[in-house]
Amino acid sequence: TSYHKVLEENRLLYNEVQDLKGAIRVYCRVRPFLPGQSNGQSTVDYIGENGDMMIINPLKHGKDARRVFSFDKVFGTTVTQEQIYADTQPLIRSVLDGYNVCIFAYGQTGSGKTYTMSGPDLTTEETWGVNYRALGDLFHISKERSDSIKYEVFVQMIEIYNEQVRDLLVSDGSNRRYPLSNIRNNSQMNGINVPDAFLVPVTCTQDVLDLMRIGQKNRAVGATALNERSSRSHSVLTVHVRGRELVSNSILRGCLHLVDLAGSERVDKSEAVGERLKEAQHINRSLSALGDVISALAQKSPHIPYRNSKLTQVLQDSLGGHAKTLMFVHINPELNAFGETISTLKFAERVSSIELGAAQSNK
Ligand code: ADP
Repeated sequence: TSYHKVLEENRLLYNEVQDLKGAIRVYCRVRPFLPGQSNGQSTVDYIGENGDMMIINPLKHGKDARRVFSFDKVFGTTVTQEQIYADTQPLIRSVLDGYNVCIFAYGQTGSGKTYTMSGPDLTTEETWGVNYRALGDLFHISKERSDSIKYEVFVQMIEIYNEQVRDLLVSDGSNRRYPLSNIRNNSQMNGINVPDAFLVPVTCTQDVLDLMRIGQKNRAVGATALNERSSRSHSVLTVHVRGRELVSNSILRGCLHLVDLAGSERVDKSEAVGERLKEAQHINRSLSALGDVISALAQKSPHIPYRNSKLTQVLQDSLGGHAKTLMFVHINPELNAFGETISTLKFAERVSSIELGAAQSNK
């Protein structure tokens, strides 16, 4: 019987680990060398089928020269936007089933975060990023289900810059705006820290594209250059879904947060002064707070430190519990990015590592 007991314990542990794996997923994407860039040697030496990758530094020797990392999936330089989305799609469906989902893009500036989330060019559908494909699917699936569930969809867009939250749809040029409390009930408002950010109802992908353009314009206000600003702030596009089941009249609610994070590069303290230093410190702090929250969730820690940053406060109801999280970490394969690549992968390893040993010692 002790044999069976061990088997049973192992099965429970296994299920628990599977559960965690299901709730937090980390995908790594390596961007190709860009045209005009020296086509030097890539620091990504090897990508395995099972989510393993090897990083090398040809200028070093010994144990510092190579490291192996392991994630849920690793996408190489030839993987298309369509293939990237194919592995994301199941999460989108679950939003319509009433789950909260967060999709993050993490990486140093220039590593491909915007490429993954938005794509390089909105005019060609082939290169559309996760955002547009997800929205297209949300509307498509909700229409497919329209015989049994009537869905309403609302969009919210905020930016977090220097720990300040800004509503990017405040001046969307229309009056079709609602406070969040209109579509959430009171218990669901707990833990939402931008209760007064405006939601705009939308009925098709084009509506959302229009709003995103407005949000981008509002984001640029006051920034020296949009590119600089967008690399130093987090942008959160949230799609709230409310469905009413026609037979039972019961209501389900889900939301999808699409988060383009600020560039993760470490700023040289000796060089950054004034505003730049302040920005850098805010970014570092909020990215490590995010890492702390996700790894505490993965370890099933009794205390989840949501309150350490605006970002984790804003997303609190969508991180943990029954929520699902997907993080795309981005790698620039150039040799001069080696240091950032290693620190990006270490961050990713920290948020994804669910070791059997760790789960066991928590019991
Ligand atoms: P980030 O948002 O991390 O600062 P970008 O998404 O702007 O980085 O990417 C930097 C540059 O690399 C852009 O010119 C982008 O078009 C290009 N790029 C990024 N990822 C890919 C990719 N997978 N395939 C082709 N070009 C890419």
